[in-house]
Amino acid sequence: MEKIESILYVEDEKNIRESLSQILKRFCNNLFLAENGEEGLTLYKSHNPKIVVTDIKMPVMNGIELAENIKEINQDAKIIFLTAFSDFSMLQEAISLQAEGYLVKPIDMDLLEKTLIKVKKTYQLEEKLKEKTANELIQKQKLETILSTTKDGISILDLNTRFLYANDAFLQMLGYTFEELEKLSSLELTSKDDMENAHEVLKEVIEKGYKDNYIKKYIRKDSNEVYVNISTSLMPDTKSILISTKDITKEIYTQKKLKEYIEIINDNVITLSTDLNGTVTEVSNAFSDISGYSKEEIIGKRHSLIKHEDTPDKIHKDIWETITKNKVWKGELKNKKPNGEPYFLYSKIYSIYDEHKNRSGYTSISQDITYLKQVKELSVKDGLTNIYNKRFFDEIFTKYINSAKRDKELVSFMMIDVDFFKKYNDTYGHQKGDEVLISISKVLNDAFKRADDYTFRLGGEEFGGLFKVKDHNKSLIFAKGICEKIRDLKIPHIHGVNKYVTASIGLISINAEDIENERKLYKQVDDLLYQAKEDGRDKVKSNLTQG
Ligand code: GH3
Ligand code: MG
Ligand code: MG
Repeated sequence: MEKIESILYVEDEKNIRESLSQILKRFCNNLFLAENGEEGLTLYKSHNPKIVVTDIKMPVMNGIELAENIKEINQDAKIIFLTAFSDFSMLQEAISLQAEGYLVKPIDMDLLEKTLIKVKKTYQLEEKLKEKTANELIQKQKLETILSTTKDGISILDLNTRFLYANDAFLQMLGYTFEELEKLSSLELTSKDDMENAHEVLKEVIEKGYKDNYIKKYIRKDSNEVYVNISTSLMPDTKSILISTKDITKEIYTQKKLKEYIEIINDNVITLSTDLNGTVTEVSNAFSDISGYSKEEIIGKRHSLIKHEDTPDKIHKDIWETITKNKVWKGELKNKKPNGEPYFLYSKIYSIYDEHKNRSGYTSISQDITYLKQVKELSVKDGLTNIYNKRFFDEIFTKYINSAKRDKELVSFMMIDVDFFKKYNDTYGHQKGDEVLISISKVLNDAFKRADDYTFRLGGEEFGGLFKVKDHNKSLIFAKGICEKIRDLKIPHIHGVNKYVTASIGLISINAEDIENERKLYKQVDDLLYQAKEDGRDKVKSNLTQG
C-alpha cells in the first residue's frame, strides 16, 4: 500500500511500543512516538499527524483524555485505540468518541493493516471533499465579487420575466432595491414603445437560446428612461434567462444631440463640397435654400454651374491656386440661381483629406452676404441715376489702379460732362434736366458692361468711366462712341451744340505701371475735359490724339 504520511503512536509500555513501532514504520513516512497522553497531545499539536494510534490505559493522561483533547482540536481526527481486555471498562467511553478502530491486544497485524488502510481511505476522501467545497466556495465568492463589482448590470429572469436575481449595477441602473424588483417583471419595466420588440426578443431567446447586442429602453423607478445594450441567453436549466445590460443612455443622448446639431448645421450653414475635379459631391440644406438648387439638381454637376458670369475669371484662378497649395481661400463670390438671380456669399474654401491624408476634394463654408451687398449697393449708388456715386469712386479708384499695376494692365479713365446743362435746366426745367441725366446714365450703363467696367456719377452733370483695354486706340474709339450715342439720343436743346444735348469727354488711356499717382491722373483727365469744352464741346480729348 501507499504509505500514510504520518502516524502518532502513543504507548506507555516500552516493549509493546518498540515492537509495534517497527511495524507501524512500514506503513508510514513519519512516525511520532509518545509514552503517554500528554506527550502525545504535544506531538499532535506540533505535527498534526494523519492517524493517531493510542493505548488507552496510560499514566499522566490516558488514551481517552488524549482522544477528547485531540477531537477538540480537530473534530475529524482519525484515532485508533489499542486496548487490553483489562481496559474493557474504558472501551465504552472510547466507543462514544467515535474512533476509527478498536483493536484488542495482542494486536492482529492483518487487522491493523486493514484498519489503517480503511482509515487512510476515509481521511483521503474527507480531504478531497473539503478541497472541493473550499474550491466551490472560492468560485462562488469570485463570481459574487465579479457580479457586484462589474459595471454591467446582470440579472436573471424566469420565463415570465420575473426577476430572480439582479446585481448592484443592475439595481442602480433601474433605481430599485432587489426587494422591489422581485415583485416586478422585466416587461413591466420596459418602455411602452419597446414592448413589441421585447416580446419578440423573449420568443427568440427561448427558441434560439440567446440574443446578443440589442438596444432596449427601460423605465427607471424615478420614471426616467434608461437605454441599455443587452445580451441575453437562456440558462442551462432552460427555465431562466441571464441578462447582461450596459447603460448606454449617455451615448444615446450624445448621439441624439449630435444628430440634432448636425441637422441644425445642415439647415443653417451653407456648405458645398467637390471632388478634386470640381464636381459637386455634397451640399447642405442651407446651400440648397440659398442657391435654389436641390441636392439632386446640383450633386454630380460641375461647380461652375452656380458661378455668375460677372465673377472675373481672375477670382476663380486665384481660388484654384490658393486651395491647390493647401491654403484656405477667403473672399466674396457672386453666384447665380437657376433663374439667373444673383446672390452673394462670403466663402472660405478648404482642402479636405481622406483617411490616408491625401487631398480628396474641397469644401466651402459660406455666409450669405446678399443683403449686406444690397445695402452696400444702395450706399454706393446714386439715387437719381442708379450708377455708382462719388463715394464709391473714391473708395475703389486707387484699388483699381493698384490691381491693374500688379497685373500690368492698360487702364482707361474718362470724365463725361454734359454741355450747356445750366442752360438746359433754365430752359426746360430741373425735372426735365433730371430725365436727361437718367438717359445719359443708361447710355453709359449699356456701354460699360464688362465685369471690370465701372461708371460713376462724379458730380451734378459729370460722369466717370473706368475700364481696362488691350489696346489704347480702342479706348479712344469707345469714348467717341459714347459721345455719339449721347448725341444720338437727340434730346432737343435749343442752346445745345446743333440744338441737341451733347457731352464732352476727357480721356486718358495708360499702362497702369506708368501711373505716378491717381490724383494727378484725375487732374489730367479733368484738364482734357476742359480742353474739349474749349474746343467747342461734343468732343473727346485724350492723351492719345488731339481728336
Ligand atoms: P458746360 O457746357 O461748360 O459744362 O456748361 P454747363 O452749364 O453744363 O456747366 P455748369 O457747371 O455751369 O452748370 C452745371 C449745371 O448742372 C448746374 C446745375 O443747374 C446742373 N445740375 C447739376 N446737378 C443737377 C441735377 O441733379 N439735376 C439737374 N436737373 N441739374 C443739375
Ligand atoms: Mg460741369
Ligand atoms: Mg456741363
